[in-house]
Amino acid sequence: MAASLVFRLQDRGPQLVREVLLERGWKEYDGRKREEEDWNLYWRASAFPEYHSLLPWQRLNHHPKTAGICRKDLLVRNLRRMRATFGSALYDFSPTTFILPNEYTRFLAEYNRLLPARDRTACWICKPVDLSRGRGIFLFRDLKDLVYDCPVIVQRYVSSPLLISGYKFDLRIYVCVKSFHPLTVYIHQEVLVRFATEKYNLSSLSNVYAHLTNTSINKGGPFYKTPKGQVGPGCKWTISKFRHFLQGQGINELFLWQRISNMVTLTLLAIAPSVPSCPNCVQLFGFDVLVDSEFKPWLLEVNHSPSLTLECQTDVVVKKGLISDLVDLMNYTSADRLRDRAYQTQRNVNVNLSVPVPLLPKTKEHNLQRKNKKSWPYQRDSLAAYQRHLPPVGALNWILGSYSKTNMAAAKGGPALSSHQMKYGPRVTEVTNRDNTETVAETELSGENEVAASVPDTRSRRSTFRRSTDSSRFPNIHRGSQRVHVQGPVVLTGQHIPPTRVGGFIRTFPFNPATLKASRDTLDVLVILQELQKLTGQVASGRRDETKEAREDEADEDDRFDSLLWGPEDPLPLSRRFKNAYRHADT
Ligand code: ADP
Repeated sequence: MAASLVFRLQDRGPQLVREVLLERGWKEYDGRKREEEDWNLYWRASAFPEYHSLLPWQRLNHHPKTAGICRKDLLVRNLRRMRATFGSALYDFSPTTFILPNEYTRFLAEYNRLLPARDRTACWICKPVDLSRGRGIFLFRDLKDLVYDCPVIVQRYVSSPLLISGYKFDLRIYVCVKSFHPLTVYIHQEVLVRFATEKYNLSSLSNVYAHLTNTSINKGGPFYKTPKGQVGPGCKWTISKFRHFLQGQGINELFLWQRISNMVTLTLLAIAPSVPSCPNCVQLFGFDVLVDSEFKPWLLEVNHSPSLTLECQTDVVVKKGLISDLVDLMNYTSADRLRDRAYQTQRNVNVNLSVPVPLLPKTKEHNLQRKNKKSWPYQRDSLAAYQRHLPPVGALNWILGSYSKTNMAAAKGGPALSSHQMKYGPRVTEVTNRDNTETVAETELSGENEVAASVPDTRSRRSTFRRSTDSSRFPNIHRGSQRVHVQGPVVLTGQHIPPTRVGGFIRTFPFNPATLKASRDTLDVLVILQELQKLTGQVASGRRDETKEAREDEADEDDRFDSLLWGPEDPLPLSRRFKNAYRHADT
């Protein structure tokens, strides 16, 4: 019988991840029964202390060094740097911000510059750099009200937000970075719309229930449960309700989604070159976006661990499907179950060794990954090391056959095996898809279908919790669209292309052959920005491919690399919508 995949949660949470994985047939890690490293997925709220030396079948839910966008002050610095380097035409989505106390003088100059023009709308918002959930945030107009006792940012308050029935809201966009090298980004079609629970009013800046949209704040407000015009009771909507609202506004909805998608890509580009390559990491980010009365999206912050608590039915609809799709994106295959065989083998080795074997010391959590960054940890040949770092290379040899050498080569980023070698045994690229894709050959070898059969299919089950009463009344973003789970892999000029969509996750980067090429080896930010600008221009002008039908055949040919326009109910392939956004990498 196929072994189960094992997940490990830090501090026994979050419950939603546990629930989704158990439903899919996973087992929870139990430190009393398993070795320290005997797991397939380790999920933590915070970043991992070290990322090196992961076993081929292990995944982590964070990439290293992403604080550059997840800490408020570092996000400001990085976006500022990008704006200075690449211009403000694209990097115009972050309100003017100062990091205090260091930039107090600069802030003062800006404050005074605005003074003559100051009216009731000129406000500032002060936020501690490393707190979340609205803690420590306040608004002010007068300098005398700016009082802080920790590092903060002071930001221009977006004082004319788009309102629904007079209530302010922001959008929580779920972004999965499957890989930073090459940059591979998915955005989920479900978005949480989070409302303030008292009417927006600039004459009472101290009313957090009117100005902050954090659920943690508003759920404690006096009007949380009260029906609030179109908003209704509570403080959250699904994207389908929001789209219904947008359609009534007569705006170019696609353009809004495209600008948000650009914002995500541009923000990630700010740190992509400095994030070390860690193919076994996948991270879900929460981008908080405020839309103003001109329908311009503003980036407020990026969360490295978006909340997964289920506080209302809307959370259930959005977050359960999200996590399930995330696990699909992690792309576990039957080869990941080799973990179990490796540990089984190790146990047998222990039993059969004629020399006395010291008890396996439990490594401490902070020691999860080895300090030895240069070499594969299991190459150390002392018995103690051999014992400690399960499974040893010997065990891997037994399991993977003579090709275990390539296991080590691949772990060091070495070359892949030839097709001849593939015939004779599995290789590490099958165990972990280092480029986050899987070829047809790999799928066959890894017995993906068999795994799919042995793991409970949560798709039908999921549909029971994805639908809310809201979604039956309002157009649902998924309705009518085919929810293809993991599409077949595509290869273009020898390059693996990540699937266009995985459940509700739509690939937003790379989005055409030119961006694929520009992110393949070293990141060519300039080319990426040009392509983004081109595409945005096309979406803004709403230019459709008028001879669409006539070019249907041509588009089919181009399906070797296609992308969907993120956001719409039934996303159209870019190749069919915008001809010029669709250039071959080699031209
Ligand atoms: P936290 O990490 O504490 O949630 P955020 O930066 O997300 O901090 O801010 C909390 C809330 O404050 C946001 O959800 C939004 O409603 C409001 N907010 C933050 N910055 C601004 C801004 N510049 N303009 C208008 N509203 C803002």
